[in-house]
Amino acid sequence: MAFVTRFAPSPTGPLHLGHAYSAILAHDMARAAAGQLLLRMEDTDLERCKPDWDDLIQEDLRWLGLTWDGPIHRQSEHIASYNTRLEALDGKGLLYPCSCTRSDIRAALSAPQEGVAFNVYPGTCRPRGMETRKPGDALRLNLTAALDLLASADLSFTETGPAHAGQHRVDPDQAQRQIGDVVLSRKGEDIVAYFLASAFDDADQGVTHVIRGEDLFEFTAVQVILQHLFGLPTPVYHHHRLIRDDQGKRLAKRDDARAIQKYRDDGFTPADIRQIVGLPNP
Ligand code: GLU
Repeated sequence: MAFVTRFAPSPTGPLHLGHAYSAILAHDMARAAAGQLLLRMEDTDLERCKPDWDDLIQEDLRWLGLTWDGPIHRQSEHIASYNTRLEALDGKGLLYPCSCTRSDIRAALSAPQEGVAFNVYPGTCRPRGMETRKPGDALRLNLTAALDLLASADLSFTETGPAHAGQHRVDPDQAQRQIGDVVLSRKGEDIVAYFLASAFDDADQGVTHVIRGEDLFEFTAVQVILQHLFGLPTPVYHHHRLIRDDQGKRLAKRDDARAIQKYRDDGFTPADIRQIVGLPNP
């Protein structure tokens, strides 16, 4: 079986040890399978993503001794294709505009924080038709309608990561309780929700194995739903353990103390980084 995976950072800050773990693991698994590692910049949040971070990420990856295959895929260059997909969802009657608070929407759009799974949206704007859409409104997926449409679909996926290994099936009741009507886009700022852009890119880039942090496991259900709505293949998922700080908290972009650049400046070697995150040296 072909093996195509990807490392998909958001260039909103420096790579830290957690990203290094994810990138090295994806790289090593791809190379061990004689497969491909793609690099994708998830840079749809134009306010927070900066070209300097994009450059530094590439520099850090090269320093780590990692190579990727093909050109870098930047999501900001594919906004039109995400919008086409949004229009198709609209055509199926699965979207509605939402004007609920900005912070609510921001929370749903940005990469998830540990412990804050989903802000399940109470459905305030669900009765609104698309014709009531105003500039600045978000677009939400009507999850109940989507699940109704997929009533006979086999919404299953294979997970090979250590914490959830096995075959999983999206449970509609659980999805409604835990996921709800997620934001797929915020109009006017070209911000496409992470799980929409990422699910389509995985399919468009021919990704067969998604390797990413365990904090994203819960998002897989939305992505599987989107795949089925568009007749796209479901890759194998591998959610890996997270690298934590001394207090046991997941590392975040703001943990500059663990930025790879800092380790480089302090004279650490790529082999040291592998050792610190617990991955074998080749
Ligand atoms: N862009 C996401 C992040 O930096 C990763 C998304 C993914 O691997 O699916 O957390």
